[in-house]
Amino acid sequence: MRYQGTIIRPFSEADSYLLQCTLGCSHNQCTFCGTYKDKPFRIRPLQEIKEDIRMARQHLGDARKVFLCDGDAIAMPTDMLLDILKELYTAFASLRHVGTYVGPQSTLGKSMEELRALRAAGLTKAYLGVETGDNRLLGQVRKGVGAPQMLLAGRNLVAADFNLSAMVLLGLAGRGEGSQVHAQATADMINAMAPRYLAAMTVTPVPRTPLFQQVQSGEFELLDAFETLAEMRTLLDGLTLDPLKFVGVHASNYLPVNGTLQRDKAGMLALLDEAIQSRDPRLLRSDSQRGL
Ligand code: SF4
Repeated sequence: MRYQGTIIRPFSEADSYLLQCTLGCSHNQCTFCGTYKDKPFRIRPLQEIKEDIRMARQHLGDARKVFLCDGDAIAMPTDMLLDILKELYTAFASLRHVGTYVGPQSTLGKSMEELRALRAAGLTKAYLGVETGDNRLLGQVRKGVGAPQMLLAGRNLVAADFNLSAMVLLGLAGRGEGSQVHAQATADMINAMAPRYLAAMTVTPVPRTPLFQQVQSGEFELLDAFETLAEMRTLLDGLTLDPLKFVGVHASNYLPVNGTLQRDKAGMLALLDEAIQSRDPRLLRSDSQRGL
């Protein structure tokens, strides 16, 4: 098993075999993201990837879950991805789950037939960085698509029967009236997209990113912990999907909140209300406990 550079994967892929298919992110321009700044995007040669699968087979014996790295493996040509999926399911008898991050532009670059073929070949889970449902904010953070395109990318994945996990960023609009606009627009987009999972994380400025510079210069004001929780509350309150697994336990968040909508919504809102109204920092994760 060979890896180049920083490797990240979603929390829920902690027990997956990580197979690096691409390096970096095909977009790599989001103002808040520094993950792949030192890693220009490229697709690894198919032979190398197949060698890695053989090495993993020898080392692990079997695997139930695989995650395709890096930031946007769906950007690969579809026939290559189909080849990799075939190799994986041949190598690992117990394989039931193959997940990947999916960029909205790369997803929209696939026809519905291609998405269905990938799903039928065993690409089961897609993690889409929605970030916000606010069209203006998507432009500001240079996500590369507007809200209509983001929604379409998510809906296409759902229509192709992917298990879709949407990821959004609390605090992305900074301090001011944009915060609540961001939260409500994000709830509206998620309702229309209908993923099975919604992961809410908190924006964390990373050195050498445009957002970090905006924070340093005072152009962007970060929300405090309680303003961030108020944003999470608006988002949660606006969600009407049933069922939807709400995952707000990421290490970047001030308060871990987790549950299944609509069953656990009242309890999650009560937890947020208690923290917001008390403004008691002891109810929150400390800055030293939080991380990316
Ligand atoms: S699409 Fe994702 S990985 Fe790529 S720059 Fe944006 S946040 Fe980072």
